[in-house]
Amino acid sequence: MTPTAVELLITGMDELHTMDPTRGEGPTGLLRGAAIGFTGGRVSYLGPAATAPEAQRRVDAPGTIGLPGLIDCHTHSLYAGDRAGEFRRRLNGEPYTAILESGGGILSTVRATREASDEALAETLHARLQGMLRRGVTTVEVKTGYALDEVHELRCLRLLKEGRWPQRVVPTYLGAHAVPAEFRQDREAYLRLMIDRVLPQAAELAEAVDVYCDRGAFTLDEARRVLEAGMSRGLVGRVHAEQVEFTGAASLAASLGCASADHLERIDEAGVTAMAMAGTIGGMLPTAMLYMRDVSPPARRMVDAGVRLAVGTDYNPGSSPCPDLWTAATLACLLMGLTVEEALLGVTRHAGLALGRPELGWLTPGGPGDLCLMTPPPGAPARAETLVQHMGGHRAAIVVREGRVVLEVVRGG
Ligand SMILES: [Zn+2]
Repeated sequence: MTPTAVELLITGMDELHTMDPTRGEGPTGLLRGAAIGFTGGRVSYLGPAATAPEAQRRVDAPGTIGLPGLIDCHTHSLYAGDRAGEFRRRLNGEPYTAILESGGGILSTVRATREASDEALAETLHARLQGMLRRGVTTVEVKTGYALDEVHELRCLRLLKEGRWPQRVVPTYLGAHAVPAEFRQDREAYLRLMIDRVLPQAAELAEAVDVYCDRGAFTLDEARRVLEAGMSRGLVGRVHAEQVEFTGAASLAASLGCASADHLERIDEAGVTAMAMAGTIGGMLPTAMLYMRDVSPPARRMVDAGVRLAVGTDYNPGSSPCPDLWTAATLACLLMGLTVEEALLGVTRHAGLALGRPELGWLTPGGPGDLCLMTPPPGAPARAETLVQHMGGHRAAIVVREGRVVLEVVRGG
């Protein structure tokens, strides 16, 4: 029987990592000599090039490495303003608390974001996302949390949901990022505002609710209240956990059925066990760890216990001004001890799980048609390991989103 024609067929890749170990070699499900076809936005053929169906459009891509479209599962990329001055002050030895007291840090980003117009916010975000697309990222999670009031948090969520972005944007409500200056004397009033007023509206616009549970942010009890309020309205739960101080937030995330707990530099053994049992994904954010000059989370211990790890950029203007997911993948290996395969799974399939979107980040017939074909560093062989070994700056030759080519770099020009 002749297979029916597909809309788009890609052949000739040196490697195709499906991220499905049942389909190919090793943990990344590697296929060689493979072709992948797309119809109606989905993968419609995945197998040997020799038996591939006819195609309306056929792209031959020798010298490239095929992967599912990458997923950056943790970013704060919607913000205005600039914090380079703060970077300089911190390098000169000034503590972050002093910077905060002088109106800098996150408070300066909140001020600038509230003041920015929709157009200015959208234009900057679009440019950031376009840069991520060029690196092969087809899904980006974007958190709010730089507005911290009803009007502007909802404005940011509407912008994320309704904007025309280069790739899939997954909006997360992070009103519980910090207590805004005007609520310093009455944090309970801010919690009530989030839970009673903002969350019911945010639940219509966001996919997830996140809480920054840490010293200087929200307590374990406060985090529980916000998460329960959001999750009872159908939002996926996520937590910033155990970064500055141990709070028990990782165990809380596991007990509530959150999709992920991220950072985890100070997670305890009970938290590791709870996350493994609950299937909570551990979000590794090595660029933030580097900028904070922090210790590593016990990544190997977590993997040994059965926790699956995602890797994100944590892209934000203060503690992680790095939008390059490939850099994060390399640093996850160097600073945290992940293997090459764990890093690749961390920016694809496990990142999909961290978003509560298990269909994303791997290639299977009938699954989402998101693919990136990466170009290896000059002179390096077209193998995925070279992309992890060489730090950052990698470019996609072709990016397919929902079965359509959305980026194509003309070769030999
Ligand atoms: Zn974060």
